[in-house]
Amino acid sequence: MEEAMSAPVAIVTGSAKGIGLSTARELASRGYQVVVSDLDASAAEVAAKEIDGAIAVPCDVRDEDQVRALVAATTDHHGRLDLMVPNAGIGIVAPILDTDLAQWREVTSVNLDGVFLSLRWAAPAIIASGGGSIVSIASVSGTTGTPLIASYAAAKAAVINLTKTAAMELRDHGVRVNAVAPGFIGTDLVNDAAPEFERLLGLPEGGFGPVIEAKQGRFGDPEDVARAVAFLADAQQSWVTGSILTLDGGITSS
Ligand code: NAD
Repeated sequence: MEEAMSAPVAIVTGSAKGIGLSTARELASRGYQVVVSDLDASAAEVAAKEIDGAIAVPCDVRDEDQVRALVAATTDHHGRLDLMVPNAGIGIVAPILDTDLAQWREVTSVNLDGVFLSLRWAAPAIIASGGGSIVSIASVSGTTGTPLIASYAAAKAAVINLTKTAAMELRDHGVRVNAVAPGFIGTDLVNDAAPEFERLLGLPEGGFGPVIEAKQGRFGDPEDVARAVAFLADAQQSWVTGSILTLDGGITSS
């Protein structure tokens, strides 16, 4: 009875800034006790201090021991885990012909291995807590061919299949597994990549933003993604599993 009344607990990886930080804030506003986790330990501490009831736990999602320790620290502190949001991600802009194996592995280790490890080690803790969900941050890049970011797009496509496969395997354990697939969102990840897109696409300086705005209607806000994550995580969506929720202003609808 006491357990049923305690606030749900969520881990958001890579939540010191960007979409992860907005998601942590959104979940806290909906009553979750949030674990702010990031490679950047000091930024995670700063972020957690701003969020009611949040704690910070550093974690590099590429490292299995650190991911296991993140889940253990959460259940030690809160006694349960209801929601895992594998969000940590990086991007490298490069044509395939200029992409070397080290770059490929750098991207896929965070964006795919990191999601696998987060899901793999969160699931047992969620099951032990009586069920819950996992909501990964995929991308529209994982649903269509996306020139100049092959490693990123391939990793996101794999996250989408991992989401669907895990949904089928974990349904009868009481764990729903879904993902969001955003278009371009105005975060550092995109702002840092814009100059390289402009160089490779022959666009003038500052020309990338208007091209994206013309396609998507506008850049998405991190809060758009955060609300979609909260929607999928909501226990009221008890039959929604294996879903990929696209939010991109309709860019991939045709
Ligand atoms: P961001 O660069 O603003 O934030 C990423 C965060 O992840 C940072 O705090 C960083 O320190 C952390 N991080 C990086 N490597 C890590 C690691 N190995 N372990 C733990 N934390 C790590 O990026 P963002 O735009 O907020 O992206 C968040 C997620 O959303 C990513 O998975 C990204 O691929 C996805 N996404 C972003 C967009 C977009 O347009 N910004 C679109 C679709 C999907």
